[in-house]
Amino acid sequence: MTRILLLGGTGDALSIARHLGPRHIYSLAGLGRVPADLACAVRAGGFGGAEGLARFIASERIDLLIDATHPYAAQISANAIAASRASGIACWAARRPAWQARAGDDWREVADWASLVTALERFSRPLFTLGREPLAHLDQIPASQYWIVRCLDAHRGSARARVLDARGPFTTEGERALFLAHAIDVLVSKNSGGRATEAKLDIARELGLPVLMLRRPALPEVDREFGSADALLNAIQTICR
Ligand code: NAP
Repeated sequence: MTRILLLGGTGDALSIARHLGPRHIYSLAGLGRVPADLACAVRAGGFGGAEGLARFIASERIDLLIDATHPYAAQISANAIAASRASGIACWAARRPAWQARAGDDWREVADWASLVTALERFSRPLFTLGREPLAHLDQIPASQYWIVRCLDAHRGSARARVLDARGPFTTEGERALFLAHAIDVLVSKNSGGRATEAKLDIARELGLPVLMLRRPALPEVDREFGSADALLNAIQTICR
């Protein structure tokens, strides 16, 4: 009987975990909520690098590793493939396709935080939707800017920044109201893909605003790659039948 270790931390991973029985394990980094209503086992916290993950695979007698982490969580994806190779087990991954720019979009790709800061220079009211990273730079906000930072953190913000602690999915109406209420003039985003957080891109297009898009990290090749949670779930059901 196949025993799966599912690496999660995304909505897609949780939807897969909801279909796993008690012999499988769902793993989270431990930064957010840990679901208590799953049939499978749930663990939280790092493994201690690729070596620690390989030790966990051996001690728990895992025979299939599934990486359903966020496309920007490059470290754990690198650890997953290294540990699967060291353990001699297969590594599958759910890799959400990136969003593609459409007619009317003005997307500008930025490689890292430094290029993002430069690209932001001519704007005054950015909306950051790329996680907690901006919180580490609140004391570097230029006098010409006021930041709106949406992330999973109840941070009190600063004189030059408002932090919105909000979890998706987000609606078109809600995103339009947010952009207008804060007079947003540029959106800063990761290219996460998927439907849950896509509405902000529709509103940026509707309002004619540019999007500074943080480039996706390169991820390692895996044994099988799936473009959606449903496709991966079908494959799991085939081998666990
Ligand atoms: P990361 O840089 O790739 O990983 C940092 C470390 O966190 C890993 O080396 C590992 O620690 C631990 N870790 C990450 N995912 C884990 C998991 N599922 N189970 C056990 N340990 C895990 O990841 P990150 O970008 O900080 O993201 C952390 C978590 O948040 C990920 O699970 C990811 O799916 C989720 N997430 C990330 C983003 C994002 O934009 N980066 C967005 C939404 C959700 P050890 O080396 O000690 O094993």
